[in-house]
Amino acid sequence: MKKTICTVLTLALLLWLAFALVSCGEKKEGIDYLVLVNKENKLPDDWEQKLEVEIVKNSFGDDVEVEKEACGAYMKLKEALAAENVYIDLDSARRSVAEQQKIWDDFTVKYGEDYTKRYVAVPGYSEHHTGLALDLYLNIDGNDVYENEDMVEYPEIWDKIHEKLAEYGFVLRYLEGKESVTGYGYEPWHIRYVGDAKTAKEITEKGITLEEFLNKLPVTDVTPPADDEAEQETEETEETDETGDGQNPVMNFIGPYASGRARALVEADGMKDAKITIEWSNSAFELRKWEIKGEFDAETLSVTYDDALVTDISYGEDGETETKEVVSETDKGSIIFSDETLSFIWNDELIYTENMEFTWSFTPEE
Ligand SMILES: [Zn+2]
Repeated sequence: MKKTICTVLTLALLLWLAFALVSCGEKKEGIDYLVLVNKENKLPDDWEQKLEVEIVKNSFGDDVEVEKEACGAYMKLKEALAAENVYIDLDSARRSVAEQQKIWDDFTVKYGEDYTKRYVAVPGYSEHHTGLALDLYLNIDGNDVYENEDMVEYPEIWDKIHEKLAEYGFVLRYLEGKESVTGYGYEPWHIRYVGDAKTAKEITEKGITLEEFLNKLPVTDVTPPADDEAEQETEETEETDETGDGQNPVMNFIGPYASGRARALVEADGMKDAKITIEWSNSAFELRKWEIKGEFDAETLSVTYDDALVTDISYGEDGETETKEVVSETDKGSIIFSDETLSFIWNDELIYTENMEFTWSFTPEE
């Protein structure tokens, strides 16, 4: 008897394994689950050749294509939500360029050009081409709710969905208040698979976008420095003109900035470096000061640093410096400027580890 049960169980396990191997959820070699496709980053040319999709039939009987591994994750997410009486379905996931063109045209007719430009990606520049981006819709009391304007009426249901995303490797992609970073308005229904729960949790806990997360990764494809540049690294010599137009590219962004109780001053330092001083004050007598220096990357409009000097300064009633305490000499982070808004976003490790608000958006001070 025991043996029979054991055989049955083994068979069941083997069947399950065989099923798991050929179905939804298989990890696909060569797929970069952190690929960035947005209004400025086009789908990689070889993506379509590498991509393997699964078909999911939604409640309307439509076939929705999802990348294999993301599909498995979505099925688990859906099941976990259903166990809590939250019912989701797939409106669309992977779209071809031709399909995207059709959506663009339909939206223009339905909502006008301004709305379309804000919410719909230019064909070739849609995250949906990856198969990793999923648009959900809701089923509430047995009724499908799928129009954008109707779906936004259920924030408490979206909250329940968003809470579960990271556990299954998904992030909410277009966050509220991050329009200047993602290029899109808030979309509670658009989720993105990033490959694993650990990454998804990190992104979610930091409250950042994929764009911001990727800027913190080490740059791997830097062009090797030319000989004369390599020599220059040994030095504090006089700068020579290497940028071509004789100007440090950070020049476009120099000046004072503010963000709540924090103030920043951006200065050019030599031909390539930026110097950014940020002061955050808790009261009239205390402030924390960051002295950040680093090369300004003219392509990404960003400064990445790993040796910022952070000091706490307390003032006496007379306004004279009383105490100065070094908090860190190796603080890491990044500053990303925006060409369009002339503002910048600041991610800082020290602030993050101290559990304060960790992504700050600074705008030019009048
Ligand atoms: Zn979408």
